[in-house]
Amino acid sequence: MHCALDQSTHYGSQWIGNIRDTRRAITKARFLTGTYMVQSKLSRFNQNTVDPTCQLCQSSVENYQHVLLECGALLTYRKEYLCELSRVMTYHFGKGMWENLSKDVIMDIIMDVTRANVVHSMQLNTEQCTYIERISRYLCYRVHSGRIFLLEKVSRGKRGPSGS
Ligand SMILES: [Zn+2]
Repeated sequence: MHCALDQSTHYGSQWIGNIRDTRRAITKARFLTGTYMVQSKLSRFNQNTVDPTCQLCQSSVENYQHVLLECGALLTYRKEYLCELSRVMTYHFGKGMWENLSKDVIMDIIMDVTRANVVHSMQLNTEQCTYIERISRYLCYRVHSGRIFLLEKVSRGKRGPSGS
């Protein structure tokens, strides 16, 4: 009995792990293919009705770069993963390299490291590319879930307290 329970718990958590991995991969793919919806994309389709400004910080147009690298409201969600990317890249290229990269190049690395590796002649090996892709998936998913959480809070605030 005891063993069976242990086993089912084990398989259970493994299964949840796989679901999370799938969700991370899907969210990342939506950024990569340009199907992830942000204000700038929504406003392109509905020019007179949708404001392209970020609803979280109200300080800039909300595009992918703003969401993944810039928005102050999402800082806590991305920090850990950008630190890890910086650590891996610094280990490979030496000190100061990451700090000198433009945001465009960092976006290239996050979106598709294999392509960025070729385009920017970075000479990362397969293992490094696989690891960076993994961090990028975590980054995209964590920022996405943080963004959804905060947007719901904003829209609840706009509607006012429930029941009144
Ligand atoms: Zn913002």
